[in-house]
Amino acid sequence: MKLPLLDYIRPATLSDAIAALGAHDGDAKVISGGQSLMPMLAFRLTSPKLLVDIGRLPGLDQIVVSEEGIDLGALVTWRAIERDKRLADVHPLLVAAIAHVAHYQIRNRGTVGGSLAHADPAAELPGIAVTCDATLTLVGPNGSRSLRADAFILGGLDTALAPDELVVNLRLPPWRSGRCWAFEEFARRRGDFALAGVAVFYDLDAYGNVYNAHVGVIGVDHRPARLTAVETLLDGQRLDTRLITMAADLARDAVNPSDDIHAEAAYRRDLVGVLVERALARAGNIPLTEAA
Ligand code: FAD
Repeated sequence: MKLPLLDYIRPATLSDAIAALGAHDGDAKVISGGQSLMPMLAFRLTSPKLLVDIGRLPGLDQIVVSEEGIDLGALVTWRAIERDKRLADVHPLLVAAIAHVAHYQIRNRGTVGGSLAHADPAAELPGIAVTCDATLTLVGPNGSRSLRADAFILGGLDTALAPDELVVNLRLPPWRSGRCWAFEEFARRRGDFALAGVAVFYDLDAYGNVYNAHVGVIGVDHRPARLTAVETLLDGQRLDTRLITMAADLARDAVNPSDDIHAEAAYRRDLVGVLVERALARAGNIPLTEAA
């Protein structure tokens, strides 16, 4: 389908972009990589009067690694994350998750800010942001504000972003060296959105017991979520096959999927259990046959 008629501008500065959004009182939309917005326009799922192209705003395409964590500018693409050699060491979970995003044409264009603002429940980056307690920086007419990812994502395609605000940055907390982690997802075909995905990380204390367990799921509910009951089960325990099976059963009980055109709720519930089992087995380097 052809796109609807609309106006287009490409502001040179962040403040010009925000002013343009504010001047159109909800009738303007930001376009970044366009990989989600263009199909939505073509299908008439959204009909703004103006597109504000932020693709060339300066300074938003940087990946900064510091003691404070890993900062991903809003215009950082999937491809840039994949190509940044530092990230495999400083945030291997992020790199593993992003490897599942879409196909390479989309990966060249799709951005961090676009993915967070779009908030697809099956998208990998919002899931990693929630699992890792990441913080977004938003900029609007009254300056900037910070919001934790779980407060930013309100539901499927629904966020706390005001119509005249932009996502400018995502900060992931620093990654401890020696941390155990895994990302597992299942999609019908490589590059498709996940039917479900699970991100896991935890640290080990001096006795080899788990602490600081984080377990997040995508694709199952209206928004990515942490499985806090599973995290509580794991904390303070030594990971073994018995604990992995208990965690997988608890995960199945903890999620609340619905039927949709891609999968029945019962299938997704079971899939979450399988993915939690696989992720914990991989993170703990425990052979899956033993964990099953
Ligand atoms: P755009 O399409 O430009 O914008 C998306 C939305 O965010 C729009 O509402 C726009 O107004 C808003 N927006 C964009 N940037 C900002 C900003 N900085 N501040 C405020 N609002 C902003 N994604 C996955 O995560 N996993 C997948 O497996 C996956 N598979 C895909 C398969 C296909 C066939 C396609 C077409 C897309 C897929 N995607 C997938 C989505 C892809 O990753 C998108 O690139 C991403 O979701 C949106 O990023 P974008 O930069 O293209 O945003």
